[in-house]
Amino acid sequence: MGINIDLDKCTGCGACVGVCPFGLLEVVDDKVKLADGCTLCGACRDACPVEAITIEEGREAGAADASYRGVWVYAEQRNGQIKNVAYELLAKGRELADTLKTELAAVCLGHDIQDVASLIAHGADKVYLTDNPELAANQEDYLTHQMVALIRQRKPEVVLAGATALGRAFIPRVAAILNTGLTADCTGLDIDTEKRLLRQTRPTFGGNIMATIICPARRPQMATVRPRVFKKGAPDAKRKGEIIRVEFKKEGAAARTELLEFIDEVTEAVKIEDADIIVSGGRGLGMPENFKLLAELAEALGAALGASRAVVDEGWIPYSHQVGQTGKTVCPKLYIACGISGAIQHLAGMQTSDIIVAINDDPNAPIFEVATYGIVGDLFQVVPELIKKLKEG
Ligand code: FAD
Repeated sequence: MGINIDLDKCTGCGACVGVCPFGLLEVVDDKVKLADGCTLCGACRDACPVEAITIEEGREAGAADASYRGVWVYAEQRNGQIKNVAYELLAKGRELADTLKTELAAVCLGHDIQDVASLIAHGADKVYLTDNPELAANQEDYLTHQMVALIRQRKPEVVLAGATALGRAFIPRVAAILNTGLTADCTGLDIDTEKRLLRQTRPTFGGNIMATIICPARRPQMATVRPRVFKKGAPDAKRKGEIIRVEFKKEGAAARTELLEFIDEVTEAVKIEDADIIVSGGRGLGMPENFKLLAELAEALGAALGASRAVVDEGWIPYSHQVGQTGKTVCPKLYIACGISGAIQHLAGMQTSDIIVAINDDPNAPIFEVATYGIVGDLFQVVPELIKKLKEG
């Protein structure tokens, strides 16, 4: 527990009861009693007038359990196919694990999963694999149960997962059961090496500031990251690693939902998130008809068409094209931003693109801060010129 109550000293005064932020203390028969779930915040100890409450050395408020070691990535799969986000997180996880001088493990839960060794080729030192027909449909109660059991047993200090529909559904439950912190939708992760803390950065207050969040007192430190925020590394088939099979013990896990059918999304015509080249337009286009010019450039380049939220909100182009914090996160080889100012919410969705070309008539537009190549000029002159050159070429 880490907290000690000296019942000989306790007078049952109740001074500690009201200060516990979680209401875990009560006075029974003139002595204070503590329920499970204490976070060692120290509020009761500070309130006790007779110093009957102490916190074990090494587990003071703000100190995490140092026996937790290793970085884990939840390797999501569907129908036995490992999703790209797992490889993206392994690339980042490798970096974090190397900084922490610890090992990187992937956790793969499902049935008949193909190419588990690819997780090692992408950087994992170990793969914890649970292959069981009960997990085939990614039943969230079962995934939660298995993930909690694994974490309790093996004690990783960092757990990362994709902020996909599935990750968003079950990873917060895992964090809640383990009584630890979770930062959702991170756009940046790094390590405070001095304190061994995961620094988890994400937009907050409507995207107006970037907050860096830490979880100093609980383990593991947990974060979800949207697909395509980090880049997948090149696989190294020669990498060696260990695949550890872990049994699924169903006892204690109740499935409260049943998967009746999985219907793939078929309505969306544009998949900008899969495109290698994106030509994106913003309010600088002036009117919806001018998207035709960008469509022409996109066609010449074999690109998909993206947009800022400003023009989506205006109804110039459907939401499926929106790039940014409340749109899609993209990571193409080439992103051409035309008449887009580069608001932080837009950048959050495209700044990891390999090459960014910005066309804007305002030399002080923030988009130029992330652009690989900046063209200061009127897009109505620059874009037709580009189309002409491409067609000639
Ligand atoms: P503007 O900021 O108006 O910029 C237009 C640019 O075009 C200017 O820089 C101007 O210099 C340039 N320009 C004008 N005429 C020309 C010309 N002829 N040639 C060249 N350049 C020209 N935004 C997103 O994009 N995606 C999101 O997901 C998103 N989510 C948001 C979430 C929240 C909670 C909030 C509060 C905002 C969000 N926004 C998002 C909105 C964001 O803050 C900006 O308002 C928006 O990105 C601006 O769009 P824009 O760059 O097209 O327009």
